[in-house]
Amino acid sequence: MNDEHTIDLYYPSAAYAQGGVLWWELTVAPGSHSKPFGDERKLAAYLAFHVGQGGRFTMRSLRSALGATVPNSAEHLNRRLRQLRTRDGWILQSQRDNAALAHDEYRVEKIGWHPGCGFPRPVDDKPSDSVRRHVHERDGWMCVVCGIGARELYDDEPGKTARLTLGHRVPGARLGKETTINDLQSECARCNEPMRDELPNPPTLEELMPGIRSMSQGDKRELLRRMELNRRPRTRVDEYYTRVRRLSESERARLMASLEDMVSS
Ligand SMILES: [Zn+2]
Repeated sequence: MNDEHTIDLYYPSAAYAQGGVLWWELTVAPGSHSKPFGDERKLAAYLAFHVGQGGRFTMRSLRSALGATVPNSAEHLNRRLRQLRTRDGWILQSQRDNAALAHDEYRVEKIGWHPGCGFPRPVDDKPSDSVRRHVHERDGWMCVVCGIGARELYDDEPGKTARLTLGHRVPGARLGKETTINDLQSECARCNEPMRDELPNPPTLEELMPGIRSMSQGDKRELLRRMELNRRPRTRVDEYYTRVRRLSESERARLMASLEDMVSS
């Protein structure tokens, strides 16, 4: 099903809550008088029954489908969609995973839990704080995708600091109790977003090409390598930078003095 045929849409009966209202048009939770029906559940039902397996969508299409109740913020939708991926077993592809998609397009690769699917929602068994700390520690408190450090400022988004989250090394795999530290990696919230079309000023290839052409062969090779890996390999400088930041203040001052001597001689 797709957006061109909104007039004679047919949905299976599982798409309707008791009372014949589509899940994503419910305002209050079933069996309640005032408790709102959660946006994650609405999104899941909309994606499962309207967009469907293999269907494509954009942030804008989601917002116009659920617009009446969903706050107008990219963060809000992103957080809900991340939950669908990490908790409810959905695989949602972006252009990063599937080059056939437009930059603002996403594809439902695998439908996960949703209202009307016939089984209860999986419990939210997030990895513990100590697992989280261990993974970030191992990755040097840096996003493995873009290299930004925890609480550092993004250079293309003024005033926005990086928040580290756990990502899965295998995209789309579920986080859970059975997940081991080796399955996880540190990703900043921005790199971990399934929905990246609302970042400010996305560049075009045309804009980037002149600068890239003028780079040295070595830099071009390094850029290609990072794109192939889809991560930013940590350099020796990164490694030591993380470690020296933990020296005591006086040791840091001594190291800086030594480095100044070393580079000036
Ligand atoms: Zn990142």
